[in-house]
This record gives sequence, C-alpha cells and structure tokens, in this order.
Amino acid sequence: MGKRNKSLNESVECLKGVGPKILASLEKRGIRTIGDLFFFLPLRYEDKRRICRIDEAREGEKAVIVAKVASSRPVFYRNARKKAYEAIVEDDTGSMTLKWFYWPPRYLKGLLRKGNVLLISGDTDRFGDLLQIVHPEVTLLSDEGEAETHKAVIPVYPEIEGIKQGTIRNLLSRAFQDYEHHVESLIPEELGGRHGLVSFRNACRAFHFPDNDAFETTVSHEYLERLILEEFFLFQTVMLIKRREIRKEQGMPCRRGGLFSGVLRKGLSFKLTGAQEKAIEEILKDMAGHEPMNRLLQGDVGCGKTICAVLAACNAVDSGYQVAFMAPTEILAEQHFLTVHRFFEGLGISLAYLRGNMGKERREILGNIEAGKVSVVIGTHALIQKDVVFRRLGLVIVDEQHRFGVMERKRLKHKGNMPHVLVMSATPIPRTLSLVLYGDLDVSIINAMPEGRQKIFTKIFTDDDKAKAYGILEEELDKGHQAFIVYPLVEESDKMELLNARGMAVHLKSVFPGRRIGLLHGRMRADEKERVMSAFKERKIDLLVCTTVIEVGIDIPNATLIIIEHAERFGLSQLHQLRGRVGRSIYPSKCLLVASAKRTDQAARRLKAMEKTADGFMIAEKDMEIRGPGEMLGVRQSGIPDFRVGDVRRDGEIMIRARKIAREALDIWQEDDINEIKGLLNLN
Ligand code: ADP
Ligand code: MG
Repeated sequence: MGKRNKSLNESVECLKGVGPKILASLEKRGIRTIGDLFFFLPLRYEDKRRICRIDEAREGEKAVIVAKVASSRPVFYRNARKKAYEAIVEDDTGSMTLKWFYWPPRYLKGLLRKGNVLLISGDTDRFGDLLQIVHPEVTLLSDEGEAETHKAVIPVYPEIEGIKQGTIRNLLSRAFQDYEHHVESLIPEELGGRHGLVSFRNACRAFHFPDNDAFETTVSHEYLERLILEEFFLFQTVMLIKRREIRKEQGMPCRRGGLFSGVLRKGLSFKLTGAQEKAIEEILKDMAGHEPMNRLLQGDVGCGKTICAVLAACNAVDSGYQVAFMAPTEILAEQHFLTVHRFFEGLGISLAYLRGNMGKERREILGNIEAGKVSVVIGTHALIQKDVVFRRLGLVIVDEQHRFGVMERKRLKHKGNMPHVLVMSATPIPRTLSLVLYGDLDVSIINAMPEGRQKIFTKIFTDDDKAKAYGILEEELDKGHQAFIVYPLVEESDKMELLNARGMAVHLKSVFPGRRIGLLHGRMRADEKERVMSAFKERKIDLLVCTTVIEVGIDIPNATLIIIEHAERFGLSQLHQLRGRVGRSIYPSKCLLVASAKRTDQAARRLKAMEKTADGFMIAEKDMEIRGPGEMLGVRQSGIPDFRVGDVRRDGEIMIRARKIAREALDIWQEDDINEIKGLLNLN
C-alpha cells in the first residue's frame, strides 16, 4: 500500500482559522481530526439555485430574490417595547419588507443603503399588504448579473455551539483544499474494485460541496452508503486488529480429557443438549491452543450456559491452572459459588468465594490464591481489579456482561501470561449489533433449550383483574412450587405513584396468610441478600417479593410463576430476562404481566410482543426496533460507539459488509501496512 499520508488523522487545529475557541467547540461535538470533519455531514441543503421575482414569492415558502434597497430605517414598536430595523426592497415586479427585531450591526446597516443590490433569502410571510422576510440572509451584489454566481445548493450543518454555519462551510472548504488528495479510503483498491465501491473522495465531495447542476443525483443514497461503509470499515478494522493482537499473546494451553473433567461429566444429572456440546467443543478447542481464547458464549435465558462454564473451569484446573469466575452482582456470584461448589466438592477442587466486607478472612483467602492453594475463585467483577494476585491464572469467566473491556484485559496481562477469557451473555443480541459489540470476540451460540422445557405461558392483566393473577399464584403455590413477584420500586416514593416491594411484602402477608413470604431488594446488606436467596433456594420461602435485583442469572428451577407489576414500565429485554427466572425445569411455568390500563403505545407494543414471542433473539430485534440499540442495552454500559454517519439499527447490512471487507483487507495487508494503520487509527 506504500506511503499513506496521515493528514486525515491530523488535528483540526492545523486548519487556518481554527483558534482555541473554535477548537473547543468542535471538540465538544466530537470533531477532533480532519477526518472527523469530513464525516460531519450536512443535515439538509438549501436550494438557492432558483432566484424568483418578488411577485413570484409565496407566503409561507422560502424565497431567494434579487432586489434593490428602496429605503431602510430604525423602527420602535411601542407596544412590544422593541427596537427593530426595516428595509423596503423592490424589483420590477413589486416590493417587500425585510425586518430585524434587533439593532443591526453596522455592516448590515451598510448593506441596507439605498440603491444597493442584494441577494436575499429566507422564509416569506405576510404583514398587512406587504410580503416580508424576517431576519433574511443578505449578500451585497455589485449588480443584478452577479446573482448568477451565487446560485447554489448550500449545505446546512447540524448546529455546533459557538460556530456559525458559514464558518463550518469555510472550514470544510479549507480542509478539502488542503487535504483533498489525502481523502482516500483505507479500503485497499483491489477490494474497492471487487466490491464495486464508488469513490470515497467523490462521495465526500458530493455531500460537502454539492454539484449545482447534478445535486439531485450526487447527494445520493449510494454515496451516503459509501461513507457509512468507510466508517464501519474503520471500526471493524480496529476490532479485527485488536483480536489479532490478543491472539499474538502467549496463551496457556490446556490439554483436554483431564481427570476431573471426566468424573464431572459422568456425574452430571442431565444429558447435555447438542447445542451445549457444540459450544463446549468450541471452548475446549480454543483452550487447547497456544493462543488465548477470547470467546463469547451467547444463548437465551435458561439454555444452560453455566454448565459449559463449569466444564471449561474444570478443564483449566485439570491442567493445573487457576480460574476466576466473575458475576455482575453479589447475589449471582453467591449462586454461582453454590452451583460450582455442588459440582466440584466431590472432586476435591478447592474453591473460594471472595466478596467485599469479609474482614480478616479475606486476607487469608488472598494468601491462598497467591500461593496457588485455591483453584477456582468466584466473586464479582472486583475479583480481578483489586489486590488479588493469582499464581497461575489460566481462565477468566465473565457471566452476564456485555463487554469485557480492553482495560480489564490489560489488567489481566499484568498478572502474568494472557489467560483464556470466556464471556457469557444472556441478552440475546441481534447479529448486526453483536458485530459491533463483539467484533473482537469469537462467538458460540447455544440455540436450543434443554429437553422437556415448555413454553412459558405469558398473559397481560390490568390492575383491575389483579385478583385473577393472585388466584393463579395461589394455585401454583398449592402445587408446592415457588413464585416471584416483582415491583419497580424498593420503597414508597413521593415522586412516583408506584407499588413498592417493601410495602407490598407487608400487604401480601395479609392477602396470603399461611404462605412464607420473603423480601429481596438492592438496598439490603449483602449478607441479608444471601440469606434470603439461600432460604428461597432451599424452599423455605414460597413467594419472593422483589425488585429487578433478580433480573439476571438467578436460577431457581422450582419457581414456576413470576408476576411483574407495573409491567408497562419495564423495557422489553428486561421483561424477557425477568420472565427467564421461571421455566427453568420441566414444570410448566407462567409469567403474568400486570399493567395499568393506561399505557403508552410503546408499552402496549412491548407487552404484546411478550405475549406473542418467547424467542429472546426475536425479542431483542423487536426491542432494538422500538428503542434503538443504545437504550436497549442501557446507554451507559452499552459499549456502542457513537458513529458519525452510520446508524447501527438502520444500517445493519452495511455493517455486515464492512466486516467482510475488513476481513479481506487484513488478509491483503502486510505487517508494515497494519502497523501504519494502527498509527492512523490510534491503536498503538
Ligand atoms: P443460563 O443459560 O440462563 O445461565 P443456567 O445455566 O442457569 O441457564 O441453566 C438453567 C437451568 O437449566 C439450571 O437449573 C441448569 O441446571 C439446567 N440445565 C442446564 N443444562 C441442562 C440440560 N442439558 N438438561 C437439563 N437441565 C439443564
Ligand atoms: Mg446464567
């Protein structure tokens, strides 16, 4: 590929006219480099190609007019106590008024001198008998003939605080003048040809400097797609290069078929599904290699991901490595500890559960981990971030998290060799989005449920027939099963009139006398939460009144009913997760959504989708459609980058193409090229 100019990655500071103030404003808008500037596309275009005469101007429409100033004067609207400025302009066909509701600056007054010929544009309306334009744009012409040279299609950019439209346009022309030859796609030429791509430079030019004669055909869909493709291509290139970097690290090969693994598999009380077997196969194969595994295990709620992780952990222990198993919440970490304990206890594999506030005990455990006396450590994400030192960390398992950040991976590296990483996520993610979020991971998908699972019966109730829902609850409890009932709030709030878990726990005791009712919410102390969860697991609680703390991961196979109150307030993916707390055994299960009869259209669509669909991937598509990807995953933790021109939801197909082309590019590029590109993309 040879010498590539780095100009597109240069700071906008290099442009003439960009001082500290403009620089700050641009930065606030995320525009740092020349390249960013080119990707900052106009919102719309103002068509100033057609100049009309005053008698052709229509009230309520935009007009571009060439006219002579007949008079101009300051006016004072007594009633409005406002100073204003007016000018009357005329051409052969009539006259009209221009108005400014402020004291015009001197240059403007200068323009409005009698006899001047002006190019005027703006929205026309009527005031009394005369047409008028309030706050028009005016340009001084030397004579009527000059208007010809001003006929143009003008791009209008999204607003940037502190920068005028004209300035944005000037910056872009300067950037294009100085850098045009560097406005070059990073996609290797031969791939551009093979995929029939139009010129990136032409696409850029068409948007920022529309061709007056061919505007309609050049600011086109094809060019827009080309820009989006370039943006997505750069993104996918980054992902693939990162993936490649991880693979270059020295891994920790784990041989297969070890002793513990054999015993564990034989002792399983159920038969693994084909989908589970396939995923495990992929994981073990990765782990046997000399490159660190970097894999995502995806599957709908309840499909049985945990056992795959347990088998992976066992495999690492078989090879003498330590395992860190992390969960997003303490409740879930505790549950994993119990599960893993059940599997590993008989094998004599030493386990430790690490949580906050352990006091002296914690020190002791840390000592054992460092000495290598503990093989599997379970805890929250704090596990690999703090003072924990491993002796031979070989595998990190991350449950229920969308992203395992680059930062965290760097931390791992400091702990010795690069351990294998297995990330598990139950949030089914549409394929296009998964390419964005997990583009740097290999993905295994469990696409089937264990045998005997039945579809969870889902029904919407209004507040008025809550008694019916309670009736169903009684029936389930009578069968010896357990149930969840979920509320949006922990306690009463003055701000929202919603039911809360604490209050309802008391109330429900009077509705269901004789039943053992427990309470669980996020504001309880960790050990209290643990106590309640264990009691529920041991069937000492019939009905668990809770908040969304149980949203992910919790596995109580004997629970067959979940009632979600104020269901209209929850997002679709969240409802699906909550529903996934039941239906985790062969017993038929139910999910009752109690919602106010007054619901927004969106809420009604969500609830309907829940009734109709059980498939998490379809629900995720629907959710993305209703809310957009960022919100669907929770904006803060979503990890979705802000694309400038592309939109993950709208342009999924382009993302898939970009991925493919980026793959091919990585095959073509030599090591030198890749290093150069890493520089260009700030990857060093
Ligand atoms: P998730 O994928 O949501 O994390 P879990 O791993 O918690 O699901 O599994 C859900 C339940 O299904 C657990 O109780 C687990 O023991 C059980 N399970 C897992 N695999 C199988 C299987 N092949 N057959 C029967 N039950 C299974
Ligand atoms: Mg799970």
